[in-house]
Amino acid sequence: MADVADIANDRAAEELSERLANRVQFNGVSLSHCEDCDEEIPPLRRQTLPGVATCVDCQQLREGRRL
Ligand SMILES: [Zn+2]
Repeated sequence: MADVADIANDRAAEELSERLANRVQFNGVSLSHCEDCDEEIPPLRRQTLPGVATCVDCQQLREGRRL
């Protein structure tokens, strides 16, 4: 069973990541390093996905958490 605090944290994190995603999309600039783990994002991924902010691993983690 989830804590109320956990739910609040999840909501806040989700809102923040959405805000960040919107900002990055608006600028259309890909980050050179992953927002979550600070690993370098491969240049091919940055070219393929304009505005990308995470490495493949963290993107999968993010998508997994949304389900
Ligand atoms: Zn990462």
